[in-house]
Amino acid sequence: MPRKRILILGGTSDARRLASELLAAGFEPVTSLAGVTREPVLPAGDIRLGGFGGEAGLYTYLASGGFAAVADATHPFAAQISQHGFNAARRAGIPYLRLERQAWVPVNGDRWTLVADIKSAVEILPIGARVMLTIGRKEIAPFLARNGISGIVRMIEATPLALPSHWQLILARPPFSLADERHLLITHDISHLVAKNSGGPQTEAKLVAARELNLPVIMIERPAKPAGRVFTCISDLAGALKD
Ligand code: NAP
Repeated sequence: MPRKRILILGGTSDARRLASELLAAGFEPVTSLAGVTREPVLPAGDIRLGGFGGEAGLYTYLASGGFAAVADATHPFAAQISQHGFNAARRAGIPYLRLERQAWVPVNGDRWTLVADIKSAVEILPIGARVMLTIGRKEIAPFLARNGISGIVRMIEATPLALPSHWQLILARPPFSLADERHLLITHDISHLVAKNSGGPQTEAKLVAARELNLPVIMIERPAKPAGRVFTCISDLAGALKD
């Protein structure tokens, strides 16, 4: 019997794990990456790079490629590609399944302020705030442009933006340890942490460190993703593809 071809919408460590698991389970996974990272960690199996040219392009790719399903393992904040994946799969008449890490939830001692988007996060920071910004590199410009705040910006790959002198760039790849996060917050005299609610253990230590140090966290809530079958566990999603 021919192996089932599965299009994984990727760009996350979960997507890499999913590709390995599907390969081991006898599927033929093809992982699609947006192509925005210069040195991506590549998953096992076949890979395609770059946008599809919108939902219509993705539909054409699915229909002509003989795919049996779309497995969306994109980041919780990558809302557009998920919607495209959902719509294109429906049009192609194949299942759309999504892998979604559970969101972080505040616990006793946390001082979180939930905000809906980047704009609200920028506005809510008080004058004089020393910020640790951990939202990736795409949306940092409005923070850098705001008067009266300063701090550190951490990301995996350098931004092409020139940082003003009161902001310091830190390049680092998760996972991050609690000791390192604590050290960073203390040595840079941070008063506010700004984070996206990405969920997952790899970048959670900063929240524990902020709690320990009694620091406020501006937590950006997740954008809406499409409906569909949602799994928090890779094996459960792989199992559902066998049905
Ligand atoms: P997005 O806003 O949802 O998508 C913007 C466009 O980028 C899409 O319309 C699509 O272009 C292209 N694209 C995105 N993901 C793609 C994929 N896996 N394969 C092929 N094309 C893709 O996405 P984003 O927030 O810019 O994220 C881009 C990638 O980075 C995603 O793969 C995501 O998993 C990863 N990532 C995002 C974040 C985050 O905070 N947003 C964090 C970590 C990793 P076309 O319309 O031309 O098809």
